[in-house]
Amino acid sequence: MAFAHAWRRMTVYAVVWDDGVRHWRYTLRPHVDAAYWRRQGAHAMVPLEPPAPAMWAEYACRLLQRLEEQRRAREDGPAAPRPERPWRGRVAGSGESFLHRLSRWLFGWDPRDPVVARVHFALRLAGYEPGLQTGDAVVLRDAVSHEDGAGAVAGRPEWAAPPERHVQAVAAALTGRQLSIRELERFMEQAHPNAGADVADCLAWLAAAGRVRQMPGVRRGAFGRLECTRCGETQRLQAWDCAVCGEDECWVCDACRTLGEVRSCTIVYAAATPAALPRPVGNGVVAGTVAPVPTPQQPLLAPNGVGARTHAASAAQRVVVRTPALTPAQERASQALAQFVDGHRTDALVWAVCGAGKTEMSFAAVAKALGRGGRVLFAIPRRDVVRELGRRLRAAFPDVELQVLHGGADRTVLPVLSPGSLTVATTHQVMRFFQAFDLVILDEVDAYPYRGSRMLAEAVVRATAPGGRRIRMTATPDHELLRQAEAGESALIRVPARYHGYPLPVPELVEDRTLGDALAGDGAEGRRPFRPSRRLLSLVERSLAAGPAQARVLVFVPTVALAEWVGRGLAGHLPDPVLWSHARDPERDEKLAAFLRGEARVFVATSILERGVTVPDVDVIVLYADAERIFQEPALIQMAGRVGRTVERPTGRVAFVGRRVTAAMRRAVALIEGMNEEAAALGLLRPAVPLAGAVPERGEDA
Ligand SMILES: [Zn+2]
Ligand SMILES: [Zn+2]
Repeated sequence: MAFAHAWRRMTVYAVVWDDGVRHWRYTLRPHVDAAYWRRQGAHAMVPLEPPAPAMWAEYACRLLQRLEEQRRAREDGPAAPRPERPWRGRVAGSGESFLHRLSRWLFGWDPRDPVVARVHFALRLAGYEPGLQTGDAVVLRDAVSHEDGAGAVAGRPEWAAPPERHVQAVAAALTGRQLSIRELERFMEQAHPNAGADVADCLAWLAAAGRVRQMPGVRRGAFGRLECTRCGETQRLQAWDCAVCGEDECWVCDACRTLGEVRSCTIVYAAATPAALPRPVGNGVVAGTVAPVPTPQQPLLAPNGVGARTHAASAAQRVVVRTPALTPAQERASQALAQFVDGHRTDALVWAVCGAGKTEMSFAAVAKALGRGGRVLFAIPRRDVVRELGRRLRAAFPDVELQVLHGGADRTVLPVLSPGSLTVATTHQVMRFFQAFDLVILDEVDAYPYRGSRMLAEAVVRATAPGGRRIRMTATPDHELLRQAEAGESALIRVPARYHGYPLPVPELVEDRTLGDALAGDGAEGRRPFRPSRRLLSLVERSLAAGPAQARVLVFVPTVALAEWVGRGLAGHLPDPVLWSHARDPERDEKLAAFLRGEARVFVATSILERGVTVPDVDVIVLYADAERIFQEPALIQMAGRVGRTVERPTGRVAFVGRRVTAAMRRAVALIEGMNEEAAALGLLRPAVPLAGAVPERGEDA
């Protein structure tokens, strides 16, 4: 008999072995699976009908496999009595009774197979109307067990294994990647235009053999929650009438749509790369060949000329790294990270202050991984930073193969680089990788308020090869990251000092009772003009005043409406021109450029400035800092971190101004002070540069 076949629908089936054991699988090409299982010596395949969209096929398969295992455990367990199944005796032998035939006809109840019957009802209950029913078993070994050279099974010419060279080419294209079948087909057309490989056949073969992972683009998770396989999104999923699978409710992920759609009927395939680093094992035991952990007498990186260093770990290839000399704070972190690569943990958290110069700290660890043939990924949430980092890595690792991937809309699929290579990628590009990298560095220090950092964190976990390591660098770790570090699940490396060695400016907490509730009402447009208090004006004027401490002023506000309202209000009370902007302002870049050129010295904005733009002489005022819903400690710390980033002006003033002082404001100050104290205790600080001007007294407002 032939298998039912349907365009881009998947057949759920049981592989039946001679001892009666069944395994549940699903496939796009049942005849390819038949060829595979026949070769493995299986007895039969029992397909379920009709073929279903990928999401339902995978869901059904998962349920079936679980029920099958429960059933087997029950029946194998010596103590467990067989449950009462009164219909069993009647069905056995002479086929179905009239009642059963009736119930089968009416409800699709399949008395021959209670496992399938339960899944059939579970699917219908979950909203998949057709359900699944047992089709006719296909005996795999009724023909002569002889295979000809092309791999066809005698007597069943349609059960052909795809040619091995095609299978190998598809497997190679998928290695380290997570791609939809359409992306793979396109890639194969580009890479092997004349091969004529049937990609779907090859994938079915590889999936049956367990060499690739196959998943629906959108899957049904726990409690029926839908989840995008590629990006992990659970909220922004929409149901559409689908032309591909013909279902009127096919789910599409909106979150990663720019990469090309994945639907609940799309199949996403993934395959891991072989690991290059020794696998981390618990309790400090490291499996595999390991280079000795360097002792203080035996430096990890031997100096090799001015400004150039050569990685000198044993049993590894030498990788030339060109970095500027590291500061003591950077050197500490650099050595800790290089040791982490040899250690037993998978994750390291680098908690570095804003402006610590953290990228260079990872270079020793990167060189070590590259020298052992590891693939290294730098994952960055933002496109502009990816390009900049690409240039820096090119300069630092001149002899290493480097790939820079950015642009969410870029749909070309590139192969994973060879061992000992570097890849820099944005969030969206990272989502196309699967267990590809031995060392992943997630750099989100300046990315905090940007959307998608959660998505990136998940993509980074997926992109790590089995046994790989992850280094996460942030100025504002969340509670979960800190919990992992405290529990010893990740290595915590704190970098309390900036690269120039001066302490972080500590924000002044300023109470200004003339401020209203920032988030009251639907915006500030309808209000009377903003009238800055004496206190606020004196804070701004103090920075603008001529003298050695003169600075430009960045005023951060929590909402778009407030940016314009406050900007206009300040402009009416200051002699200097004032600019205001926000993320959605089309003239944002021009205004920012004008601010940088010094045409205006006060800039009111909602979000932090682009990272590439360091304003050398800037003071920061966070207005409505008590707007707790928007300004939590991470945001406050990031905004304060814009000040004093250059060697020329390593200090500056930060003020958090609110109607009241919130706990978040106090905690942000405490965290900054804590970092300064730690840096001082470690001897990493130079003395602070004093600035003229004090916090105005409260009485001035009267
Ligand atoms: Zn569909
Ligand atoms: Zn998605």
